[in-house]
Amino acid sequence: MHATMMNTPLSLNHLLERAGTLFPKSEIVSRLPDKSLRHHTYGEFYQRTRAFAAALKGLGLQKGERVATLCWNHHAHLECYFGIPAAAGVMHTLNLRLSPDELGWIAGNAKDRFLVIDDILLPLYRQFAHLHSFEKVIVFPFSGAPVPVEFTDYEALLAQAVGKTFTYAPHDENDPVAMCYTSGTTGRPKGVAYSHRSTILHTLVGCLGDFWGLKGTDSVLPVTPMFHANCWGVPYGAVMMGVKLVFPGPHLHPDDLLDLMTLQPPSLSLGVPTIWMSLIQTYDAAQKEGSPNLGRWKLPKGMRSLVGGAAVPETLIRAFDAHGIWLLQGWGMTETSPLATVSYPKSELVDAPLDERYRRAALAGVPVPLVDLRVRGEDGQDQPWDGKSVGEIQVRGPFITSSYHEVPVEPDKFTADGWLRTGDVASMDALGFVKISDRTKDLIKSGGEWISSVDLENALMGHPAVAEAAVIAIPDEKWSERPLACVVLKAGLAATPTELNTLLLGKSFAKWQLPERYEFIDAVPRTSTGKFWKMKLRERFPG
Ligand code: ADP
Repeated sequence: MHATMMNTPLSLNHLLERAGTLFPKSEIVSRLPDKSLRHHTYGEFYQRTRAFAAALKGLGLQKGERVATLCWNHHAHLECYFGIPAAAGVMHTLNLRLSPDELGWIAGNAKDRFLVIDDILLPLYRQFAHLHSFEKVIVFPFSGAPVPVEFTDYEALLAQAVGKTFTYAPHDENDPVAMCYTSGTTGRPKGVAYSHRSTILHTLVGCLGDFWGLKGTDSVLPVTPMFHANCWGVPYGAVMMGVKLVFPGPHLHPDDLLDLMTLQPPSLSLGVPTIWMSLIQTYDAAQKEGSPNLGRWKLPKGMRSLVGGAAVPETLIRAFDAHGIWLLQGWGMTETSPLATVSYPKSELVDAPLDERYRRAALAGVPVPLVDLRVRGEDGQDQPWDGKSVGEIQVRGPFITSSYHEVPVEPDKFTADGWLRTGDVASMDALGFVKISDRTKDLIKSGGEWISSVDLENALMGHPAVAEAAVIAIPDEKWSERPLACVVLKAGLAATPTELNTLLLGKSFAKWQLPERYEFIDAVPRTSTGKFWKMKLRERFPG
């Protein structure tokens, strides 16, 4: 027999229609370059997004053609998230922290036809304009200044199209809607293209109670850039559920984020650990007698926060919990849409003591539904779920990429049976919690034994004087590699290598696992997505 269900294609257009018809009064708040707040309703978002889609069609955008965005987090970027696919185009988010050369290369590789750009980013555009020629550059007047005449004004484009009849282009659920390039931490950036289907399935999974857990009454602050892995997918979920969105614009300094959280308290926020680390350090410093910021900020008690993109230290989770904010760790990649695992209390943990809950919150967590995950040892076999045996994480599922844009499928990226090789090294425990120990390229092999840089970093960041710690391998004649710890101290505080080693020994590290050397540095270099950039440290400390 046949199932009797309709085969309606999964579509982002459905989410846009839902938002316009069911949630016209929901709010979108964007912080502008002058730090004022601009308020929009979902009703306006709906009208403007459809007008933008109509305008793109008017400009001749054909199905599957790429429209690049070079924008901060704000309402117009959200309009691109839905308007470009509504016109059957593919939104390609460019990462504004990349170098002009990389941006030019990526835009060329993606064959971007149009560009939507914030006016405040035009100086960056002018540095790579010679590397790729966009047929039209549409400037969003984010700062309110007039758009230079050589460009197309986003607002004028919309104004011409508002109220015109618009019909969605017919499409298949497997048609592409968005494209991101991997940030190239470990090589040349590669394009990943998401479909209507993969995006809708990822959105449904993300919205589940133990992950974003989105409710209509929530207010979401995405600090994660909208150019990074589709802002982890949360804009799609918010629009699906009609949830209030608060966009920080270009203001990501901890003072600015704390101001915004005080003015527009979110119930869910998302970001990488480095931003959250500086946020809590700034907040805690402001609580001290004599601080000029005493009493300036209120942390949103009860807020949940999805933190990922890099390991989340247990000390950070404890520091936020002391203020009634629970950090939920997620692991994923551009290639995985990106949510692949989340660390949440499974039913077995309902009565677990608090220490155990903190310990687990500092793990990458459990695979989300629809994601198959296995940990493969060097012998090609699945590792036992003993919390100790490490191997490479491999994943498979409907929102995981099966190739890269115009790149032949490489065996070091995909297995013969079609799983994505993540390059992350991890173990899995009896409850199915994944613990990331390293990226393949960051592993330290000392005397034939692996040392986890992530474990050392997390322990070092537990020292009250340590703001950040990044551990890399340095060559060693006898042991082949040894760990080198690069430590950033908090302002006005001190710690010696002996003191740090004592801390590590107390945390049950063996003597041979201790860093060979400590380097006290001003700051850990960051990648374009805010992660520790160990490649730069390895260049600086070759041995
Ligand atoms: P890139 O791979 O170019 O850095 P991504 O943003 O896709 O860009 O990064 C994915 C990688 O980030 C993962 O492969 C993993 O190494 C790291 N990562 C993401 N989340 C976590 C996490 N919770 N713990 C440790 N590492 C993480």
